[in-house]
Amino acid sequence: MARGFFNVPIATNEPVKGYAPNSPEREELLATYKKMFNSTIDVPMHINGVEVRTGNTKNIRPPHDHQHIVGQYHTAEKKHVDEAIATALAARQAWSSVSWMERASIFLKAAELLAGPYRAKMNAATMIAQSKNVHQAEIDAACEMIDFFRFNVQYMTDIFKDQPQSAPGIWNRVEYRPLEGFVYAISPFNFTSIAANLPASAALMGNVVVWKPSDHQAYSAQVIVDLFKEAGLPDGVINVVYGDPVMITDTCLSSPDFSGLHFTGSTFVFKELWKQIGANIHKYKTYPRIVGETGGKDFIWAHNSANPLQVATAITRGAFEYQGQKCSAASRAYIPASIWADVKKHLETQTSELKMGSPEDPSNFINAVIHEGSFDKIAKYIDAAKADKDAEVIIGGNHDKSKGYFIEPTVILAKSPTYATMTTELFGPVITIYVYEDDKIDESLKLVDESTEYALTGAIFSTDRYVVEKASKALENAAGNFYINDKPTGAVVGQQPFGGARASGTNDKAGSAQNLLRWTSVRLIKETFVTPQDYKYPFLG
Ligand code: NAD
Repeated sequence: MARGFFNVPIATNEPVKGYAPNSPEREELLATYKKMFNSTIDVPMHINGVEVRTGNTKNIRPPHDHQHIVGQYHTAEKKHVDEAIATALAARQAWSSVSWMERASIFLKAAELLAGPYRAKMNAATMIAQSKNVHQAEIDAACEMIDFFRFNVQYMTDIFKDQPQSAPGIWNRVEYRPLEGFVYAISPFNFTSIAANLPASAALMGNVVVWKPSDHQAYSAQVIVDLFKEAGLPDGVINVVYGDPVMITDTCLSSPDFSGLHFTGSTFVFKELWKQIGANIHKYKTYPRIVGETGGKDFIWAHNSANPLQVATAITRGAFEYQGQKCSAASRAYIPASIWADVKKHLETQTSELKMGSPEDPSNFINAVIHEGSFDKIAKYIDAAKADKDAEVIIGGNHDKSKGYFIEPTVILAKSPTYATMTTELFGPVITIYVYEDDKIDESLKLVDESTEYALTGAIFSTDRYVVEKASKALENAAGNFYINDKPTGAVVGQQPFGGARASGTNDKAGSAQNLLRWTSVRLIKETFVTPQDYKYPFLG
């Protein structure tokens, strides 16, 4: 019960720790990594707060050492998904009506636990099972997740404060109810923070959730479950199931109580889910909310006024950090002929310095790609480029899956602006470059805008303000997150709300009030203090 208009703590971004040699955080993280790597974990499902073990398990293997098994996770049969839905709906009554401060406190506490005692464990799990280096794990599994929790609490109260005017004699108010039913959250492998945020943002707004993490993120998903439990999340609010995505999805989407989809993953899967929801629309008690952040073919476009070293650095960081497996990763670049030789020289120098190997050695900038399917797909495109007359592999191009799924940072030079790797999302450490004639600015911007179906992130480089303005206008719809003289990755919650349009998603901006609004259904309440008793208006004479 609220007996005051409470202010929540003002959200600030969690500082990124440095992990320099001999720092205490580095020692703690590497010791935690070693301990977790050399033991095994048994990851159950979580339904109504109960750990459910079906015995039908799949192994968890580090992508950089795929013969090593660090544990297993249990997978669902249909009855478990039915149970997860029923449990969520049973928890809804209490959870949807508890004061918002109680919900806020749980996620604020989760943020503080993660900033402290859970930090090393969350980062180590992400390093082991998703093959992120120390820095990539820190900015994702620790900092971004903490930021999501803290900022979402603040955004929730900003939303609540948005109230209508009241004319004399009446009082209008809106209340932001959770959706009537349950939210189905499906998360991808590549960000531990996104995995936590998909169920947590809906739950913060009072919704109950069935969450299906990616098979390749089960280890850190378990740490998230532990974190939520310790923070005080009641049983049944977020229920976790693993296994066959088609069966789990069919079960959730055929429930009349399905009221929202919170998805992050590939474009094809999301479009299929949307289709399925459409086909089931007559079953549902309410029109479901559909929020999806999906694929990208993110660009860097440079003008000849740009500094070649800055462009090369944006490519190295933007394309190769976390092996190019960020949805925002640069994977196509358009460079003017006059600066290409310089950009290329810097790129060769920088990429020659990138070490590749296990995340346990913090000097490795590059680790493994997530699984064999991904490795094979990326390797196939690289090998095709080696053989193709329309392309040339100018940097990297080697790959080896004997111990881990390692792919060298690779730069392909395309002779055609619509070459396969200029337009297809590979989701690996590969960038394709098209060199355009300096005077073909308009044509090159048109290529950026029209060559792919996506519109997630993009960056332009120029020191000429007329060109900056021209490119910003020409690419108005080509990216939901648009960067000027910076790499297109590294969005920070509270600073650069994230999401794309066209085939890249519904652009509901993770880490913003816009996203949280999707998990509410507004009830307007009008109260009249002196209620009329005469039906006749004055004009009736
Ligand atoms: P994915 O689409 O393979 O899997 C995402 C989730 O969907 C997983 O939980 C998976 O098990 C599930 N899934 C797979 N097939 C399904 C089906 N038929 N029905 C229901 N669920 C299904 O994606 P991924 O490999 O985990 O992640 C990489 C993709 O995610 C890339 O395309 C990337 O661009 C995108 N991504 C986008 C953003 C963004 O904010 N736009 C962020 C992260 C990742």
